[in-house]
Amino acid sequence: MKVTRITTYRVPPRWMFLKIETDEGVVGWGEPVVEGRARTVEAAVHELSELVIGQDPSRINDLWQAMYRGGFYRGGAVFMSAIAGIDQALWDIKGKVLNAPVYELLGGRVRDRMKTYCWVGGDRPADVIAQIKERMTHGFDTFKLNGCEEMAIIATSKAVDAAVSRVAEIREAFGTDVEFGLDFHGRVSAPMAKVLVRELEPYRPLFIEEPVLAEQAEYYPRIAELTSIPLAAGERMYSRFEFKHVLERGGISILQPDLSHAGGITECVKIAAMAEAYDVAVAPHCPLGPIALASCLHLDFVSWNATLQEQSMGIHYNKGGEVLDYVRNKEALKLDAEGYAMPFTGPGLGIDVNEELVIERSRDAGDWRNPLWRHADGTVAEW
Ligand SMILES: [Mg+2]
Repeated sequence: MKVTRITTYRVPPRWMFLKIETDEGVVGWGEPVVEGRARTVEAAVHELSELVIGQDPSRINDLWQAMYRGGFYRGGAVFMSAIAGIDQALWDIKGKVLNAPVYELLGGRVRDRMKTYCWVGGDRPADVIAQIKERMTHGFDTFKLNGCEEMAIIATSKAVDAAVSRVAEIREAFGTDVEFGLDFHGRVSAPMAKVLVRELEPYRPLFIEEPVLAEQAEYYPRIAELTSIPLAAGERMYSRFEFKHVLERGGISILQPDLSHAGGITECVKIAAMAEAYDVAVAPHCPLGPIALASCLHLDFVSWNATLQEQSMGIHYNKGGEVLDYVRNKEALKLDAEGYAMPFTGPGLGIDVNEELVIERSRDAGDWRNPLWRHADGTVAEW
């Protein structure tokens, strides 16, 4: 079998899918994207496709190494997301050829179902209580919200109080009937992270995500010393070679590799195994579409330390497209009454992509961008 063609489709709300075709008619789907930089990743996919077209799609490990090592310069959000999408599609093809779900090819399941959580509150967290109440009617009891809005490098008591009182309100309203993680989203600098983790400690959030940016990872162990709240990070780390430094330094309790950013299934399974060796949990990052989510779930089903799966149904970014829109067998991604995802039964990634709809919506996909925020004095703020 040989790969004959790789086609990319940018689709709303802010995703990109790719299709790999073969000379035997088997096709595979992947989701290579950096949110807000889809066209850049698209160019990278088509450059890398020179290494894949004409090759045997069953040799995923070798194709991965060719894409990673074959170009001298490697790593980073763009290259690793391009590799991720191609890798996912190659696994989809392998599963279809061997008539087995990807998790079977990875050694089989370690769990019967996988806990998911959903987002509430939006970019500038608001209406959190009402949104949690609404989502609880769909069976969710685990949530994530942004921990704060813009946070200056040295912030006011007012800004700290706003962040803390929102969290206090959640515990007041729901007690321990719900669990929630707080995403600092890289908005908080090291000085304020120290203040916030102490102030938030009494409300026992499930985790604090990106307490500081990944480029300030030397602070993770220092912040972890100040709090018993588990720290999470990883959506802006792109390979084993980056994650190893974080694991060696310590401080992070939950790694959050993104299956569409960190080299795909091949790489993230290895990252999860490294985390297990350090007694660190994994909660794959996934504010993306159905192919990314399916890829995450295959990892979750084979990784003992996978603890929670993010998914983007109803997330504030999904304007003009929802996770299930592009999938024909929607039941494959349907959650049970307690917010768990069930194992896929179909071969490959287990989802049947509605190609006609993908083509139709790709015609006016638009270019999603995150907002550019500024502080009161006009300096750029982390979004
Ligand atoms: Mg995050």
